[in-house]
This record gives sequence, C-alpha cells and structure tokens, in this order.
Amino acid sequence: MIIHSEQEMLDYGEQFAKKLSAPTVIELIGDVGAGKTTFVRGLAKGLGVKDPITSPSFTISKQYALPNSRRLVHYDFYRLPDPGLMSEDLSESINDPNAITVIEWSNSVANLLPRRHVQVEIEYNDNDTRSIKPTFL
Ligand code: ADP
Ligand code: MG
Repeated sequence: MIIHSEQEMLDYGEQFAKKLSAPTVIELIGDVGAGKTTFVRGLAKGLGVKDPITSPSFTISKQYALPNSRRLVHYDFYRLPDPGLMSEDLSESINDPNAITVIEWSNSVANLLPRRHVQVEIEYNDNDTRSIKPTFL
C-alpha cells in the first residue's frame, strides 16, 4: 500500500491498531527515516495512548499504559548492536500477555522473537511517499 504523507502514515497506524490485541509482537523493518516511529505514533493513538510518542533510540525502550491494564512497549535497538541485559527486558515484554511489543532494528534480537509475530515493512520511495506492507507470520 502507498502512503502519501506523514498524516496518512499516522492514520494507517491508528487503523492498524484495531487489528491488534495483546499479546502481539510487531517487528518494524525499514531504513532510517522510512517512517517506523511515525507508524508507532499512529498505532499508539489507535491503542488509546494520549501522551506524545517519541523515538526510543536513546533510551532503547519506552512504554505507555493502555486502557484495560495493557501496555505498549516500543523498542529501538539501532544504537545497541549487542542487546545484553535489554534482551531480558524484551523477553519479559514478549511474554507478557498484556503487552503489545513493537521493535525497530530487531536484527540483534531476532532470535528472541516468537515465530508468530507481525512484520511491517516500510520502504522509502521519495520525500513524502512510502510503501508499507504488513505480514502476519
Ligand atoms: P524511522 O523511525 O523509520 O527512522 P521516523 O518515523 O522517525 O522514521 O521519521 C520519518 C520522517 O519522515 C518524519 O520526519 C516524517 O515527518 C517524515 N515523513 C514524510 N512523509 C512521510 C510518510 N509518508 N510516512 C512517514 N513519515 C513521513
Ligand atoms: Mg525510529
């Protein structure tokens, strides 16, 4: 599917949230600036998060309380080629029946991901358009 603007990506993420129920693991695939975090901002809105979503690239993970005592946990392993102790944190989220876990730059933790998860691939076409393709594994 072609996304023509940042707003369309936010809307797509917001709609995508309706397809999800905890527990779910989402792996986001795409280059720097593709729109992974933008997608998560929309997703969070669709899940009921009122607070602004910022990229977890410096803190590696950020989490947000959801209605019904669920939580959204957003990871970005870009700056952490060796996840070390963060892999325990990630496993805890993946195994939490109340968590929706979203991961950017999952290469270093690929072995921890459950076989059944959602892959969302985002491709940069030009300044505004992106292609997005979800795969439910
Ligand atoms: P990533 O997390 O993949 O590195 P971000 O979501 O942080 O990417 O950044 C994407 C940037 O591209 C944002 O500054 C956003 O405003 C801009 N942008 C422009 N068009 C789009 C689009 N169609 N979808 C997503 N982001 C877009
Ligand atoms: Mg990002």
